[in-house]
Amino acid sequence: MTKRIDYLNKIKTNVGNNLADSTILIKTFDDMDNGFVNNILVNGSTILFRNTSEMIKGNKKYTYGTHGTPTTNDLCVAISMLERSDQTILTCSGLMALTSTFLCVLKPNDHALVVDSVYSPLKQFCKIFLTRFNIHVDFFDPRDEYNLKTLLRTNTKLIHLESPCSNTFEILNIHSICKYIKQRSNKCVISMDNSWATPLIYKPITQGVDISICALTKYPTGCSDVVIGSISTTKKLSLVFNNFKKLIGTTSSSYNCILVLKSLKSVLVRLHHHHNSVVKMCKYLTTSCHVNHVFSPILPWSPDHKLWKRDYKLSNGIISFTLKSNNVGNYKRLLDDLKIFGLGWSWGGYKSLAAISDTKHRHFKGTTNNLIIRLQLGFEDINDLINDLDNSFQRIVNNKVIRSN
Ligand SMILES: *Cc1c(COP(=O)(O)O)cnc(C)c1O
Repeated sequence: MTKRIDYLNKIKTNVGNNLADSTILIKTFDDMDNGFVNNILVNGSTILFRNTSEMIKGNKKYTYGTHGTPTTNDLCVAISMLERSDQTILTCSGLMALTSTFLCVLKPNDHALVVDSVYSPLKQFCKIFLTRFNIHVDFFDPRDEYNLKTLLRTNTKLIHLESPCSNTFEILNIHSICKYIKQRSNKCVISMDNSWATPLIYKPITQGVDISICALTKYPTGCSDVVIGSISTTKKLSLVFNNFKKLIGTTSSSYNCILVLKSLKSVLVRLHHHHNSVVKMCKYLTTSCHVNHVFSPILPWSPDHKLWKRDYKLSNGIISFTLKSNNVGNYKRLLDDLKIFGLGWSWGGYKSLAAISDTKHRHFKGTTNNLIIRLQLGFEDINDLINDLDNSFQRIVNNKVIRSN
């Protein structure tokens, strides 16, 4: 069996040497024992022990599949390096990473605060599941930090942030929120869904967040072929989350991890391409006579533009818009007529996708329309994508369904 290098120490040295993330991701996993460039795939549940003493002690690096394999560990080390976290644990999905965090941190009679424009399945989890355990969750206005401050209680144990928020991309002032919370309470922990940016664009932990969560399913996987999530924590919380991991047995398969490790090395390059496509799509949508509002923090007049410029500088490939008429028939026809865009959930892959979502569940609405069209711009030529949308708009106009008001 090949001797394996301890990548964790190699990564620490490379981070210390101020190398860029992309360089560290590609350089650190060189395995000069075999000479292969790629990470190695090790699948396994059982790990053999030399004798019963070794078996009983249980202090070997690998003891059982759910506790980690060389491949799952490589991915955890890579994500921890990117997030600048002490530790990363893997979950079967991005949603599971979110719900696990709530289950790990909260107990009956605790209170949590969550941003109103959060990933909506998490809101359902709070409303339907957490109430069973007498855990109360309040939702705060993403555009009003004061609202968050007024909702803080003595039993608030978790503040969950998402920035930019789902579908409408409001950007929170993470640094300022964390500073305020840490001054007010030492019992309240802050988690953040970092899926929009990925840790290549934004590092929540360096801004005061305790737990950074990523739906690796999206850009890190990049090919729509894996569902997986990560929870990265600071040193203060590592033991708590590590024990939680053992209690509930969360992990991800080595097959999944090797696919993510492969794609991770090209995330930043792909994000630059996605960004350029969003810039061009913004130009088209903001000048279209059928579009009411375009949601993207890259727009100079967006209320989020300043924070985006300060904290992100790069966009991913998603952009949303509303139509001038709030007629559901128009929304459906526009999407049903698309020839190149696929209709589908999720984002982060090479395929361009369109989806309809609604903001009905929101307490604080930035738009009067309930319906929003979300586009994920993939790697088809951007001019073909714009033409696809333009043709679809033309067909609606010819059928005279749109009534601008
Ligand atoms: C998709 C998504 C998730 C959930 O990820 P899955 O792996 O699909 O469960 C979580 N948060 C955000 C912001 C997402 O867009």
